[in-house]
Amino acid sequence: MTISPVYNTPAQSSPGRSAKVVCVGRNYADHARELNNPVPEEPLLFIKPGSCVVDMHEPLNLPKGLGSVHIETEMALLIGAPLSQADEGRCLEAIAGVGIGFDLTLRDLQNELKQRAHPWEKAKAFDGSCPLSEFIVPPVDLNWAAITIELQRNGELQQRGNSADMITPVAPLLSYISRFFTLLPGDVVLTGTPAGVGPIQSGDQLNASLKDLLSVTTRVA
Ligand code: ZN
Repeated sequence: MTISPVYNTPAQSSPGRSAKVVCVGRNYADHARELNNPVPEEPLLFIKPGSCVVDMHEPLNLPKGLGSVHIETEMALLIGAPLSQADEGRCLEAIAGVGIGFDLTLRDLQNELKQRAHPWEKAKAFDGSCPLSEFIVPPVDLNWAAITIELQRNGELQQRGNSADMITPVAPLLSYISRFFTLLPGDVVLTGTPAGVGPIQSGDQLNASLKDLLSVTTRVA
């Protein structure tokens, strides 16, 4: 498989700062179960602003004094054409790049906010909460339903999932999102995390990979 060319992440290009990252919660049943959450009947969407995007290759700076920070490793899609009320075929054509995103989550704060039925933003959209890798052009023969995603933390396997296990796969997910939010070039969609989420801390060495496509090694500052 030939991999080229490479797109900059939104963090590295100033227009990307105004982009948004649309995320889906509980898109893998095994992850919903590990947090004792019900599996949603429709995609559970939330948005991280472009201001929280950072370069995954730089050491990750975690917020201090706000409780545990969990890492969720997700396949990220870079949008290359406007999508509004778009069908699945158009959505697939509009994917300009595929990469890896960390959906960093202040889990203690999120649990507190959920208990009080408040929005999650502070727990999900804080500065630095969305490290993104570079994006590669999806190979023409890429099967969106057969992509393995992995996270190794300090040399040990922490997360492994396959896009085959997504509750809402890539094409219907993008189409669903476009019913509510217009996706614009430079926007990014995070497609949900498989099981194995857990806290990270200062000094952790991380390696995230999309099998055969991309591998990123980074660390927590
Ligand atoms: Zn997530």
